[in-house]
Amino acid sequence: MSAAFEVSNANWFERAKAVIPGGVNSPVRSFRSVGGTPYFVASAEGAHVIDVEGRRYIDYVQSYGASILGHAHPKVIEAIRAAALDGTTFGAPTEREVLLAEAIVGRIGGVDQVRLVSSGTEAVMSALRLARGATGRAKIVKFAGHYHGHSDSLLAAGGSGVANQGLSGSAGVPDAAVADTVVAPFNVVPALDADTAVVVVEPVAANMGLVEPEPGFLAALRAECDRVGALLLFDEVITGFRLAHGGAEEWSGVRPDLWCFGKVIGGGLPVGAFAGSRDVMAHLAPLGPVYQAGTLSGNPLATAAGLAALAELDRGAYEQLCTTAARLADGLAAAISSAGLAVQVPRVGPLVGLFFTDAPVRNFDDANAAAQNGRYAPFFHAMLRRGVALAPGAYEAIFPSLAHTDAIIDETVAAAEVAAAEVAAALD
Ligand SMILES: *Cc1c(COP(=O)(O)O)cnc(C)c1O
Repeated sequence: MSAAFEVSNANWFERAKAVIPGGVNSPVRSFRSVGGTPYFVASAEGAHVIDVEGRRYIDYVQSYGASILGHAHPKVIEAIRAAALDGTTFGAPTEREVLLAEAIVGRIGGVDQVRLVSSGTEAVMSALRLARGATGRAKIVKFAGHYHGHSDSLLAAGGSGVANQGLSGSAGVPDAAVADTVVAPFNVVPALDADTAVVVVEPVAANMGLVEPEPGFLAALRAECDRVGALLLFDEVITGFRLAHGGAEEWSGVRPDLWCFGKVIGGGLPVGAFAGSRDVMAHLAPLGPVYQAGTLSGNPLATAAGLAALAELDRGAYEQLCTTAARLADGLAAAISSAGLAVQVPRVGPLVGLFFTDAPVRNFDDANAAAQNGRYAPFFHAMLRRGVALAPGAYEAIFPSLAHTDAIIDETVAAAEVAAAEVAAALD
């Protein structure tokens, strides 16, 4: 670049677009659905990110839930630094892989064994192969609006960026790859048949905004899986170690056969995991015939960061997260509705959602109607101008962290009052 390069979000975005498709390494980061130029993060601390122009934002993206302690937590940073000094990858087993697996086994009822991978996508993709290998069946059932990473067979009717970009699935996925994928509406128990290997569900849907399972839904889904001998997979890449100390199993009382984790368990570094009973996991190589592998799986830095994060997440931490989330949800609902805008701010434990609509959102159709009514984008920008960063898409959840103090929540709510009034005024 020439010496004349001036540091700004816009200039970095231009440079990015020249060498990275769309300027981003994950489509959810682009501002395509809200318009405008993404801010380029230079650094972050606690509840805040700071962009390359020096602007500070209260951050509710928090790496889509990966940073539950807030950014650059000193204990996580120290753990990574210490681990790095011992070497970053070996291709041989290490102590911290065992400790992280033990931490997961120790907290999630029903999990006997864990296999670590490097992303949520990889975890779900591998768990599906395991489910198919263990049952000898091909068919998988997923729910509309649930996101399970970007593997071929699961993009159909995906939430998050798939929905955000207005896609029903993806080009480049051959019909054969989805021939055994059945998509069902969330919150209705599908009638399964004996060809079904596995039903994959986000136990609390957090990739089409936030949609709670209706009372009894997960238990009834468990019973329907048992009736036909299908496995039940909880994709807990968001809810794991966030919804509650013991995740969705503790929260719902329903025990799946397989679990997937990601985001929180990496402490901000790339980690995913899939887990299950000893019997199911015994189908995996090297014990069994289901192959799965990874050069960087169980990476020393990533396991160090994950262990440091989990060490902070005691029961008190979840109480604090719930209290913070309630303050935020109540505040946002009051601020936005007082401006005369129809709004729903669902909250499930520490997770918060935001829909500009009158009626509760129960499934993907409801979520689409709310996401596509044109309210989210102007509200997003009005908040961003006031130093509050929500996700640049209407299908994402809001992720308050342990670093979001009451004062920061109150600052957010005050911004929302003005932002909502501005959006309402532009409608008149
Ligand atoms: C984020 C997410 C994934 C994919 O994880 P990546 O690390 O982005 O590959 C899968 N399932 C759910 C529920 C997620 O929220």
